[in-house]
Amino acid sequence: MPDQTRPAFQDLADRLRAIVGERGLVTDPDALAPHLIDWRRRYFGRTPFMVRPATVDEVSAVVAACADAGVSMVPQGGNTGLVGGSVPDETGLQVLVNLGRLNRVRELDRANYTITVEAGCILADIQQAAAADGMLFPLSLGAEGSCQIGGNLSTNAGGNAVLHYGNMRDLVLGLEVVLPDGRVWQDLRGLRKDNTGYDLKHLFIGAEGSLGIITAAILKLFPAHADSQTALVALHDLSSVMALFDAARRRSGDQLVAFELMPRVGIDLALQHVTGAIDPLEERYPHYVLLELASSRSEAGLRAALEEILEAAFEEGWVVDGTIAATEEQARQLWFLREAIVEGQRLNGASIKHDVSVKTSRMGDFIDTAKARLAERFPDDRVVAFGHVGDGNVHFNICPPAGDETGFAERGPAFTEIVFGTVAEFGGSISAEHGIGRLRREKLADVASPVDLELMRRIKQAVDPANLMNPHVLFVEPSTGSDLDR
Ligand SMILES: Cc1cc2nc3c(=O)[nH]c(=O)nc-3n(C[C@H](O)[C@H](O)[C@H](O)COP(=O)(O)OP(=O)(O)OC[C@H]3O[C@@H](n4cnc5c(N)ncnc54)[C@H](O)[C@@H]3O)c2cc1C
Repeated sequence: MPDQTRPAFQDLADRLRAIVGERGLVTDPDALAPHLIDWRRRYFGRTPFMVRPATVDEVSAVVAACADAGVSMVPQGGNTGLVGGSVPDETGLQVLVNLGRLNRVRELDRANYTITVEAGCILADIQQAAAADGMLFPLSLGAEGSCQIGGNLSTNAGGNAVLHYGNMRDLVLGLEVVLPDGRVWQDLRGLRKDNTGYDLKHLFIGAEGSLGIITAAILKLFPAHADSQTALVALHDLSSVMALFDAARRRSGDQLVAFELMPRVGIDLALQHVTGAIDPLEERYPHYVLLELASSRSEAGLRAALEEILEAAFEEGWVVDGTIAATEEQARQLWFLREAIVEGQRLNGASIKHDVSVKTSRMGDFIDTAKARLAERFPDDRVVAFGHVGDGNVHFNICPPAGDETGFAERGPAFTEIVFGTVAEFGGSISAEHGIGRLRREKLADVASPVDLELMRRIKQAVDPANLMNPHVLFVEPSTGSDLDR
């Protein structure tokens, strides 16, 4: 039972209702339910209530009231995060602060190539607002129809165009943040150059809500694409995949914007489970790459450039089959198949997921090595290694043999040990783009250096001394003052 009856929470509820109104305070269990479970259905939380402030002043007053009551808060955007950071814990003592009503585009400044948006804006809506003015906001990912920019910022989201435009951190010029005591820190000046001491916005980007609540951001825009060309090609081995990546990048005049690995096993799961997924090639191959060139020039000659790249790759023997999308609809179908690999795994049942990165120069070797080690111990389980390999990022997932989940969950820790052990050997990261949340905090404590951990704890302690902001993400122990090495 939620702890709503406790007098402290009753007082807090009254204070919060006075700030956000009846509409902004959700206590109905049915309305709360979807907000208390994460996208992967691994974390089920409880809360006395969810607050839905609609302005930055309301967020500030809500946070001040919670801080005053000594109650911790969990910020929530679209709840599409994959590491369990966006739902409260099981105690029923954390207030959920949902940013969905804070969703206005404050300004689009064409001449400055920026858009100022509130944290609850859905990513796809920001892309559309930019497109309506002939501009591009390039962050793009499978959850873009429901994730919010505040969540994207707080997880430093990556996605499909990082190799050309960078990740979320690279796309921000400034932030507005409500600090854990309710004060508002704001830098929305939209400057590309500003060397006046520490760049504070970067503290909050990727902080997963542990240092404050992001309420607005000023984002970089780019000229819209006037031409783009998309192809799906088949390859026999991963060294060919990475050779194609290098060639495509060099030969396209740096117009390669996406380079996604799709293994056959992933395509099979997509075709089996996701309505509308279509296999564009007749033969079956072990590996596929979805690549896209794009330019803001309509006469950029991208089609010819792509044909030239692929012809050379055929001659080299890297590419053995493929198709170039002839229409926008065909390109959309190829991207649909790529995204259906995620959904296909989900609908298929159990899987153990790892979101890891290594240098692109070591990517092929890394995947081959980790797969061989897994196959040696677990020959029947299926590796689905797919995703943004052009950024050195691979979603290294493992599924049980078709129709047989016996003992699969028990094998999970051994899978993870092999994958993360190989990541460490290759000098990589255990979380490329999904973050740490509650899922990876023990692992972070294992792999981060003592100096890293101490600096992170000191930052947390300095900004959130009462440990009120999403206290269960990132750190294994709540980072109270007594936890700090001196
Ligand atoms: C199908 C699918 C595909 C995905 N593909 C990608 C991908 O390609 N690349 C990628 O990087 N991620 C991907 N993700 C993961 C996820 O979509 C991103 O992490 C996204 O950025 C989360 O946004 P959200 O609004 O859903 O945040 P939530 O899930 O609500 O929250 C995520 C974290 O941010 C915090 N938070 C949310 N809003 C705020 C705020 N305003 N202020 C402070 N803290 C806040 C939360 O407390 C939590 O710790 C994918 C997820 C799905 C389901």
